[in-house]
Amino acid sequence: MNYQKEEIKMRRELGNGRWDKILIKRMTELSVANNYEEAKEEWIATGDVWWAGSADMPDWVSNSNHQNHCLCGHGIVYHFRIRNTENGVEEIVGSDHINSYLIMRQIAEEKNVNLAEVSDEQVELWLKERVGSMKAEAWWAENGDAFTNMFDAVKEMDVWHNVYEKEQYYDAKYRRYEYRKVLRKKGRGTFGVDYDMASIVWRWNHPDNPKAQIKTRGFPNEKLMMDLSLFFAQSHSMRPAFEAWKKEREDRLEFLEQQKIIAEQKRKEAAEKARLAQIEWDKGAPERERKAREEAIRQENIRKKREQQKFERHQRELALTPSETFSNMCEYYGIPIFDESFAGNAWEAEFLMSIRKKLSNRKELSTAQLNSLRKIMVENPPTSNQVNYLRDLGWEGEIPSKKFASKKIAEILGKGD
Ligand SMILES: [Zn+2]
Repeated sequence: MNYQKEEIKMRRELGNGRWDKILIKRMTELSVANNYEEAKEEWIATGDVWWAGSADMPDWVSNSNHQNHCLCGHGIVYHFRIRNTENGVEEIVGSDHINSYLIMRQIAEEKNVNLAEVSDEQVELWLKERVGSMKAEAWWAENGDAFTNMFDAVKEMDVWHNVYEKEQYYDAKYRRYEYRKVLRKKGRGTFGVDYDMASIVWRWNHPDNPKAQIKTRGFPNEKLMMDLSLFFAQSHSMRPAFEAWKKEREDRLEFLEQQKIIAEQKRKEAAEKARLAQIEWDKGAPERERKAREEAIRQENIRKKREQQKFERHQRELALTPSETFSNMCEYYGIPIFDESFAGNAWEAEFLMSIRKKLSNRKELSTAQLNSLRKIMVENPPTSNQVNYLRDLGWEGEIPSKKFASKKIAEILGKGD
């Protein structure tokens, strides 16, 4: 096939060559005008182009009686559709006979400009767009299957092998450190010798590559095809290592998945165990609470009993016959010779007992101690009934406290018995 090499030489006018002469004759015959100079202006390119290697032949080719041949009779690959704008007759010419005039008319009409305004560049572009896409189509028809098979066979290996290994990073999916791989975008070394080719996937159809050939050309360039063929050949010896690498990673993922399942199972079991333990514990709660209450009461009773014992001990001590030293010291401080009757509670009894000990040993009292002492005596005064009764009974001495009064009354009445 000559689809890639076929160059389209654009001519403005037909000449005196054999095929040109035939074309001039045929076009004039199909026109309204009866001379070529006028007839040629009746014709325009439609913009439709078809390449003979394409699978789907359009109607405008199949309906023609000279497929693969120009109107002049010459064999062709590219079919350009032309139309006579005066009588509607349609024809097909080859690339040798699609002259720029036909194209210029088409462009002028399409863009609604004068013929003189259409540039050579626009004509070139018109041709490139049509022939370019056909080249890709032609290429695919001839090489598509081979390319696709090779590409599919090696694309995974390409992104595994044609890379640079960079720094390590922690890969969350594989849960370990991995080397970051970056696709090699430019090859290095000499082809077939010390060659590190650029990634085939990168060059062909990597979504991150704005210049991927699938987008810019529609079919791979020669270099990419050569590299693909080379890599495809090399891939056979590389495959065991690649498969082992792939399998290790698959196994790793499977292992992690298993671990996850096991961990989840353990978590569920532990949760169930905790739930059952909680139920068991909750069952025993009333009994535990009852025991705790009983124990609290028991402890409180012990504490009260000890308190009471202490109180009673201090009261007994305070009731002992005071020493002379103690009596003298009380007199010295101007306080009654106090006994257990002055104590309203355990704390007071303990305090009074400590003061009594101090005074019995001729120890000085601090201001704070004297204040506390006076407060205890004032806070437990006798009632007026007690005072009156005691006076009636003939007691003439001091009546410092309620307890003293009760004790004294009992004493006197006891004596009276
Ligand atoms: Zn021709």
